[in-house]
Amino acid sequence: MITQKDAIRGQHSWQSELKNSFLSLDEFLHQIEIKADQLSGSILRGANFQFRVTKQYASRIKKGDPTDPLLLQVLPSVIENYSSSAYTSDPVGELLLLSQQTKVLKKYNARGLIVMTGACAINCRYCFRKNYPYSGNVGQVAIAAALGEIADDSSISEVILSGGDPLFLNDVQLSSVFSQLAEIKHVKRLRIHTRLPVVFPERLTQKFVSTLSDLPYLLCVVIHANHPNELDDEVLKKLSNCKRAGITLLNQSVLLKGINDSPQILAKLSERLFEGGVLPYYVHLLDKVSGAEHFDVSLKEALMIEQKLRQILSGYLVPKFVKEVAGADSKTPISELGL
Ligand code: SF4
Repeated sequence: MITQKDAIRGQHSWQSELKNSFLSLDEFLHQIEIKADQLSGSILRGANFQFRVTKQYASRIKKGDPTDPLLLQVLPSVIENYSSSAYTSDPVGELLLLSQQTKVLKKYNARGLIVMTGACAINCRYCFRKNYPYSGNVGQVAIAAALGEIADDSSISEVILSGGDPLFLNDVQLSSVFSQLAEIKHVKRLRIHTRLPVVFPERLTQKFVSTLSDLPYLLCVVIHANHPNELDDEVLKKLSNCKRAGITLLNQSVLLKGINDSPQILAKLSERLFEGGVLPYYVHLLDKVSGAEHFDVSLKEALMIEQKLRQILSGYLVPKFVKEVAGADSKTPISELGL
């Protein structure tokens, strides 16, 4: 268990480092040696969904290359202003669940999801929660209410911490949630969905990893990487530490046009993940959130990529290609979607 003193000591460095993230688009472009005119006037300034990138993620972008696959994930583009009606602010129907006056999203049998925070270390332009009404639905009061709901609902055996990024919370806040969950006897498993280990590996301090490995219930950490270039040696080192500490690690990706819509790139991603002790879990078809249409890959292409990936990789390295369909009782394999 992390004490207040330990946490303050250990967090000082990662939290101050995280504060150095790029919030200014111009400073970021200067750092990666890209001039605004190289982007042919396509930069969106003042977007509601703000620009934010860690220094660590920025350092993996190839300097001077406006087509870099990591850059394209975070660069606000004017194309975001043009979406057809198929792209909405609530592509997976979460607002409906929220309107049922609950702080726990119960999408699937036996699982309850808590949106812990609206904050992330980087803002991915394709994020399906970019319009989520975080205000009033996250924070200490909302988390306490969610834990109360879970305690009262014995049908929930697995709790998912999501966001925003749950690891954006500090160790004291997370330890408090971990211990409250330990008091709920019907909770058998905890799953944490986080992009921080990839975009800001410093978050995985030795102390925090050891807290995770000591939890009295089963734990699975699901990271989010889309491209092999996101996984530099520092990221792999931190992930391997987690693996050595006995933590189950899975990865989910989003299939993104011009970024990872190629069997060769996804194969490299799987191999790189496995080097860090992470098993590929899901490749999601894009959730049709407004402003992200330019990232969408057609079902036909996705099926071809999946088939090719099976030919390239060992079976255990092939992620499941799925789509989240609002109201469905599980993720839907793309092979079951009609063309
Ligand atoms: S890290 Fe996850 S929650 Fe945060 S912006 Fe990216 S996709 Fe969305």
